Amino acid sequence: MTASLHILTLDPTHEKPERCQVCWANQPAFIYEWRPLGLGESKTMRGFCCPECAIELVRDMRASEIHEWAGEEGAVNAEVPDFMGPHDHKVSAFAATE
Ligand SMILES: [Zn+2]
Repeated sequence: MTASLHILTLDPTHEKPERCQVCWANQPAFIYEWRPLGLGESKTMRGFCCPECAIELVRDMRASEIHEWAGEEGAVNAEVPDFMGPHDHKVSAFAATE
């Protein structure tokens, strides 16, 4: 099971949440659905978030993915020391952000 993060627009004519449910400070602009790696649909967290927290959720997912890939790279390299596929993919995907 992979991790997922969905950021959806908020229709203020139908939903009028008062506060972001991540920082509890700002007015929300989006709906988020976050499911961490390895957890099923029942563990999906849903709520309203502000633009700043939407960006933080993506950053959190990026950090989680980097951590996960580092673990996979170590496991693959232990089995096949010359196999660089996961490492090359990680470097390419996160080169601009690491
Ligand atoms: Zn917020």
